[in-house]
Amino acid sequence: IEIVGAPVINETNELKGAVLVFHDITELKRVEQMRKDFVANVSHELKTPITSIRGFAETLLDGAMEDTELSKQFLTIILSESERLQALVYDLLELSRLEKDELKLTQKRIEIHEWIQGIITIAEQQAVKKDIEFSYTIDEQISLNGDADRLKQVLLNLLYNAINYTAEKGKVGLVIEETKDMILFKVRDTGLGIPESAKNRIFERFYRVDRARSRNTGGTGLGLAIVKHIVEAHNGEITVDSKLDEGSTFIVKLPKHL
Ligand code: ADP
Repeated sequence: IEIVGAPVINETNELKGAVLVFHDITELKRVEQMRKDFVANVSHELKTPITSIRGFAETLLDGAMEDTELSKQFLTIILSESERLQALVYDLLELSRLEKDELKLTQKRIEIHEWIQGIITIAEQQAVKKDIEFSYTIDEQISLNGDADRLKQVLLNLLYNAINYTAEKGKVGLVIEETKDMILFKVRDTGLGIPESAKNRIFERFYRVDRARSRNTGGTGLGLAIVKHIVEAHNGEITVDSKLDEGSTFIVKLPKHL
């Protein structure tokens, strides 16, 4: 708490009392701390791939280049680390746009059945790579008002996560259903699950349950923060239901009309 005080004096210069103003700066401090943490996180996330790109490039120049096999290995790492950097910068820009409220939703009527086809194709391709069984159930003839591209981003992010955090031969399912005035997306997996203590935190920027695993799957740690922003811009909400080692279900509720 920050306190500012001043005496109260009447016309004849007698001291009548004092005014004390108490400022609660807890919120300000918290925001400032979050900003500092964010900058530290971004720097760390950028530093790791840069260090690795630089190291492998130097080793190549120092002579490793003569070994064709080794060169291929190193160049593959350089390429994938560059891709990480690119994904990170893309997600950061996206998040900063969303947070500045520059997000203008291009609203239109989305016929779910048409809209979902491309998403299903992508999810199937990803699932097959990990021998994961992907299934979906979608209510007949449903539609929704919203930003088709942004909502596609929401579902793809959730489906990618479901596939990434599920072991081979697991299952991932998508359900889209309609209630009186809502459309629900449910993305279910039989994967790692999320510990109780992390359930609220996974929507924070850069929060990861397991840093090493997320890195291996190429995650930026920003996906769910972006998803939450988009859902909230649609006046919707996102929740997660999960049991450790059994799996997770992410549920997005969107009003049919914004
Ligand atoms: P990342 O790029 O790390 O996947 P996200 O913001 O998409 O970043 O997710 C944040 C964290 O939430 C992940 O690192 C992971 O620990 C956890 N998580 C997200 N989706 C799932 C899921 N389907 N199953 C288990 N853990 C998940």
